[in-house]
Amino acid sequence: MIVYPDEIHDFLLHRHWLEIYNAAAKFLDKHLKGAKTAAPARESQRISKLDTLIRGGSLIDGAGTDAVKADVGVAGDRIVFVGDAAKENLQADRVIDATGLIVAPGFIDPHTHADDDLFDPKRAANLAYLTQGVTTVFIGNDGRSRIPLGKALEQLQSQGVGTNVASFVGHGSVRQSVMGMSDAAPTPEQLEKMKSLVREGMDDGALGLSTGLYYAPGSYAKTEEVIELAKVAAERGGVYDTHQRDESSYTIGLLASIEEVIRIGREAKIPVHISHIKALGADVWGQSGKAVEIINRARAEGVDVTANQYPYVASGTGLSASLLPRWAEAGGRQETLKRIDDPAIRPKLIAEMEQNLKRRGGANSLLILSVSGGGADRSMVGKRLDEIAKSRGKGAVETALEIIKMGGAGVASFNMTESDIENFMKQPWVMTGSDGSSGHPRKYGTYPRKIREYVLNRHVITLPRMIQASSLQVAETFNLKDRGKLGPGYFADVIVFDEKTIADRSTYDKPEVFAEGVKYVIVNGKVAIDGGKYTGATAGRALRKATGGV
Ligand SMILES: [Zn+2]
Repeated sequence: MIVYPDEIHDFLLHRHWLEIYNAAAKFLDKHLKGAKTAAPARESQRISKLDTLIRGGSLIDGAGTDAVKADVGVAGDRIVFVGDAAKENLQADRVIDATGLIVAPGFIDPHTHADDDLFDPKRAANLAYLTQGVTTVFIGNDGRSRIPLGKALEQLQSQGVGTNVASFVGHGSVRQSVMGMSDAAPTPEQLEKMKSLVREGMDDGALGLSTGLYYAPGSYAKTEEVIELAKVAAERGGVYDTHQRDESSYTIGLLASIEEVIRIGREAKIPVHISHIKALGADVWGQSGKAVEIINRARAEGVDVTANQYPYVASGTGLSASLLPRWAEAGGRQETLKRIDDPAIRPKLIAEMEQNLKRRGGANSLLILSVSGGGADRSMVGKRLDEIAKSRGKGAVETALEIIKMGGAGVASFNMTESDIENFMKQPWVMTGSDGSSGHPRKYGTYPRKIREYVLNRHVITLPRMIQASSLQVAETFNLKDRGKLGPGYFADVIVFDEKTIADRSTYDKPEVFAEGVKYVIVNGKVAIDGGKYTGATAGRALRKATGGV
């Protein structure tokens, strides 16, 4: 096992009595099962004064266990007590009355696009997430990450962030920095350079390697290239997180794409995680059953395959990404623009885009969420592509090309069925992940919506399972140490919400409305949402994957 200087530093920083005590308690729990007494009682022998006590709530611990009545005590940045505080005569500086409310671990979101907010000091509180009860977000997904990662994480830590944040090292960014937007295979030297960038990212604390094999330039990589790079992440205990090559019928098809993910896991000997798993478009509707079968078979054979999912029938992406064939993007934007205007290429481009539009469900299924570019027409936002095309008296693809030429647009693409969503959600290896991006309601609503709609209204899964899939399971899948569970010794990322009122309020028309029902959010022991209001705390930390040591 390699011990890095950072961790030695961390160890020394945190080496106060509570840490040592908790470590000893954990050791005893693990090795002296027969002799063990209840952990809370043992903790309370040492702790008489807490910073915060959350009293009287219905506790769901994140491990999948049913709700129990219990109080949660916080001292410093850790949970130090779970049990009956009155019986132990515990005092606290602050008591939060959680009577009639659910107390749960803060949610850990394994797939976000919160990068932009977090790196902007004005939006770094990450309120879209905090208000949902999310206390940790992952960034660097879909193959796009900051390079070098260590510097970026340090920047976030010193600037202050509302939630914890961890990152992947992105294959697309690594490839682009070595090969630009080339669609060629890497030379041996280029591959070595890419490997060393992945290694650097991992050493900087990345959770693993992310890819966006659907997007350019990730799509230009053959499976073998990805395997070689995934091996580097595997050597350092990382996870392979992917926006897979095809969620639909664009290229190799959904099922073959899942087989590719499994092959990468098997050959690189790395746990693989399929982000925002879905069956996209009419061609593959109903294939969730087959997809689940393929994944279950691989899991039975020892490949560690997991996934995350958001509870919406529309995906969120770029107009270019959804309609342009990838060959049209080779070489970068200037090359794309040349191809669009090249009379020798344009007809073929349009023909393929017509196919892609059909795959997506037609022009009415694409809703413009945002526009980019200096001369962009902002009145398009909130309109469907067919409506815009009609007002211009042009075809849908022609209109899309005009928008792309102006700088492009973000779209909500209505392309999933509820039955596929529910089928994936029920799988024990499917976690929650918002894929939150600007303009799509999932950024402000994923977690409350999953509880309101899929747990309470439709009973697709239970509340303890929803919470497990949104906390401890994510922490364990991605090797986040001491997070995701309400238990002594875990970091105090704690939420309190009202089951009667929790709900998403963001919609496709008004995507930036905060969710309701989350009353308290504690991040690393600090109260960030208090009685439903943001306190101004930026108690989040830049988390680095545990690589051993403390
Ligand atoms: Zn993605």
